[in-house]
Amino acid sequence: MLSVEDIHTFYGESHALQGVSLEIGEGEVVCLLGRNGAGKSTTLKSIVGLTPPARGRVRFEQREIQRMATYRISRLGIALVPEDRRIFAGLTVKENLEVADQAGRGAGKRWTIEGVLEAYPMLAELRDQDGATLSGGQQQMLAIVRALMTEPRLLLMDEPNEGLAPVIVQQIGELLDELAQTTTILFSDQSVPFALKHATRAYILEKGQVAWSGSTREMRDDPSIQERYLSVA
Ligand code: ATP
Repeated sequence: MLSVEDIHTFYGESHALQGVSLEIGEGEVVCLLGRNGAGKSTTLKSIVGLTPPARGRVRFEQREIQRMATYRISRLGIALVPEDRRIFAGLTVKENLEVADQAGRGAGKRWTIEGVLEAYPMLAELRDQDGATLSGGQQQMLAIVRALMTEPRLLLMDEPNEGLAPVIVQQIGELLDELAQTTTILFSDQSVPFALKHATRAYILEKGQVAWSGSTREMRDDPSIQERYLSVA
């Protein structure tokens, strides 16, 4: 479904991604792991054109998208839930969903505002509350559900658990498992246990390169992989 081939992404002179390649098949749940600054966010942003790669290719369902504008990539069916969640303050929960609804693909939509509020009663309870007043976990739920409004076939999530309490992380995990029934997912995380629980494959980034890739089962069975690439030694 998605093929990232040897991409190089820069911030000015800084060479953040140095030849990252990865593949995601339809229906997979894949995790991008790596320490702070390894390049996880930049990889996700490069896929959706927010930090377009200077070299390399990104293919989504056989189309090359590395030069496409973000809104066009979104229309093809890729949504990103960004690390900072981007919930609009001054807009209610319902209005935050409406913004994405208008940006969506229109014809044949599966999700309507009322439909998602019914499916996620926690958000229905908050529907008239200002986005700025939500807790971190509520904001994350809203950010994920808002991304669904664009009807993505590939959902990218950048560190969905960052800063959240364990009980909320568990809820995010349950939501992720549920979405995985119908959507292909690539998420980044620093938490290995969460990746082991919810993803079947992982890529570990280190200094802008893929240092290891394989199944999460392999990772579970071989603690040296985590020690080598992920411990904060
Ligand atoms: P984190 O967990 O901290 O978000 P990450 O793995 O997502 O880390 P990136 O945010 O992709 O890593 O950062 C990769 C590299 O690019 C780092 O060296 C970082 O300092 C640099 N970088 C990221 N954003 C910018 C920016 N806006 N301007 C300049 N350099 C940046």
